[in-house]
Amino acid sequence: MKKLFAITLAAAILLSATACSAQQKTAEKTTEKKVEANAQEKDRETIYQVALLQSLTQGYYDGIIKVNELKKHGDIGIGTFEGVNGEMIVLDGKVYQALGDGSVKEAADDETVPFSNVTFFDKDGSVKMSDISDVNALKEKLDSMVEKNGRNLFCFVKMNGTFEKMNVRSEIKQEKPYKPLDKALATDQREFNYDNIKGTVVALYCPDYMDGLNTPGWHFHFVSDDRTKGGHVLDMNIKNATAEYDATPEFDMCLTDNDDFQKIELAKDVSSAIKKVETNEE
Ligand SMILES: [Zn+2]
Repeated sequence: MKKLFAITLAAAILLSATACSAQQKTAEKTTEKKVEANAQEKDRETIYQVALLQSLTQGYYDGIIKVNELKKHGDIGIGTFEGVNGEMIVLDGKVYQALGDGSVKEAADDETVPFSNVTFFDKDGSVKMSDISDVNALKEKLDSMVEKNGRNLFCFVKMNGTFEKMNVRSEIKQEKPYKPLDKALATDQREFNYDNIKGTVVALYCPDYMDGLNTPGWHFHFVSDDRTKGGHVLDMNIKNATAEYDATPEFDMCLTDNDDFQKIELAKDVSSAIKKVETNEE
């Protein structure tokens, strides 16, 4: 397995480098139980991010960690797979892979992940939503929830219901040499439209200051209740729903020492490419 690195950014401007897999640490024998319990509690309130949306956008699609490792860091999340082989939806501890042919399967434990955000979902509250006519209306409703709960925290949302309209996309697996994501999606994105579909939107909110590591605002993925359909949400419509949320104050990021990863200029502004791949808009 490749050597891994992690950066932990905690609320108290704590910056520390640790090995990616906390479980790899060999705990000393004395106070380990208490320390471990605290660590587990802390882990549940941490957004775990694999690489950067900026590295993915620039075409770094090599897997950095395996699915079974990712599961140790959360039971809800979004992301993608090696070669951008479909959209990832993590829900109730299961990792789903919404493929470019429109099908959904449970991802194999040894499938690898180039980009993802996960956390353990502990519901902090919920908001009733009604007449959400499109994805922008959903963002507005969720933004007002975030304003109340702390716009500078991360937040995961899970919203189950019957969607009158659900427009999702996935993509065909890429082969090397990888193209930047907007170029890959220009030819290999596939869209799917469903009516009156029961399912769950999994949403991540990143605060404004995350624009070098991810993208500020909301990112929505969807999986149907029967786990046969899903993808990255481009648009949707729902009459009534309850959005459950989990505000999260800590952030942990996992990087790789892979040579190709070191060659990426991560300070390059790819925000317009990110907007294009997230929303389909120029
Ligand atoms: Zn997505």
